[in-house]
Amino acid sequence: MTGFDFPPPAMPPGTDALRAEVRAFLADSQEALGWRPDSDFGSDWSAAFSCALGARGWIGMCWPRRYGGHERSALERYVVIEELLAAGAPVYAHWVADRQSGPLLLRFGTEEQRQTILPRIAAGECYFAIGMSEPDSGSDLASVRTRAERTADGWRINGTKVWTSNAHRSQYMIALCRTGPAGESRHEGLSQFLIDLEADGVKVSPIVNLAGKHDFNECVFEDVVIPADRLIGQEGDGWRQVTGELALERSGPERILSTFHLFAALVEAAGPEPEPRLAEAIGRLTAEFYALRAMSLAVAGQLEKGELPEVEAAIVKDMGTRFEAEVVETLRRAVPAEPVAGGSANAPSLEAALGATVLGLPSFTLRGGTNEVLRSIIARGLGVR
Ligand SMILES: Cc1cc2nc3c(=O)[nH]c(=O)nc-3n(C[C@H](O)[C@H](O)[C@H](O)COP(=O)(O)OP(=O)(O)OC[C@H]3O[C@@H](n4cnc5c(N)ncnc54)[C@H](O)[C@@H]3O)c2cc1C
Repeated sequence: MTGFDFPPPAMPPGTDALRAEVRAFLADSQEALGWRPDSDFGSDWSAAFSCALGARGWIGMCWPRRYGGHERSALERYVVIEELLAAGAPVYAHWVADRQSGPLLLRFGTEEQRQTILPRIAAGECYFAIGMSEPDSGSDLASVRTRAERTADGWRINGTKVWTSNAHRSQYMIALCRTGPAGESRHEGLSQFLIDLEADGVKVSPIVNLAGKHDFNECVFEDVVIPADRLIGQEGDGWRQVTGELALERSGPERILSTFHLFAALVEAAGPEPEPRLAEAIGRLTAEFYALRAMSLAVAGQLEKGELPEVEAAIVKDMGTRFEAEVVETLRRAVPAEPVAGGSANAPSLEAALGATVLGLPSFTLRGGTNEVLRSIIARGLGVR
């Protein structure tokens, strides 16, 4: 079947109360931990915040209780993460593990991995890096060259991953490696592995980004030997698994809300009676925001039903990240604030927040797959390619 669908999901009962609970928790946590709001999920790393959130049962929310989860629905989880992002909470530490690595291990990991790792993720103490991109493999993920070769009792990994966010402060990476011939589709012979980032032969080196921050890394694997049970899922099934992981990575509210703090600043600066052109711009952004939110929520509903809405997720990310940029452009046109470089996005002044966001903005359409690549997925889904 070709095409796409965004069926509005029925929200489970109690989500309004849950929303209020999260808001109260955030107000207390902000006072206790002193964080400053920044709605980009990739801005602030706080192990203390992640642990507090884990203690409230808001990490690994949908996982079985026997693995430290809370058996809530994907839509309840949506409400929680939407509130966290809208409030600008420092969610970066647990973000990847909660969003995609944990669900991947739940589906394809060994029983021992589920029992030992998932409860630590849910407690907010175990963090993951994504090992997909390589120096010559970004958009063309099927061309990865990091190799995993069988040894007598496990695997030996050699190769280089790049742009690996947070590898310097995470315990594990899930790496996509070549384990066999690529085949005609180029999607065969790929497998995913759980790699301990402290293992012998792993070298993690910083790559400082445009804003002067160290989030990215280059990770070199030189004869890294891992046990046989670190293969995730089936040997050769890596492409199918990674595609599922990307649907989780692309569709969430973090693809719409990265600049929400500036949207709030724009509305505040406009005041109760904005001049007509500004009122029109804010109205248009608000309408777009509501439409995108409905689409992103629909994808959460589809994931809840066990579907794999790859095309819908790609549409949300393409449109959502363009919307995030539009918010910044509208603010820059409307408010006489010059971006100041060298601050952080959650700095107290609008100028500093704007400066940090302007420097981060180009990355929003790149991380998780570029918009050109997303459009080719959409075109294939529509049957026009
Ligand atoms: C903030 C941030 C965090 C990241 N974190 C991680 C991480 O944790 N782990 C990880 O593995 N990766 C991570 N990445 C890497 C990211 O996934 C890649 O940058 C992205 O997939 C693009 O790959 P590339 O940089 O090699 O660009 P390229 O693939 O070289 O693309 C260059 C340009 O060519 C265009 N292009 C490429 N192929 C096509 C095509 N077929 N048709 C049309 N246009 C095309 C692209 O759209 C892009 O504009 C991160 C990136 C950013 C910006």
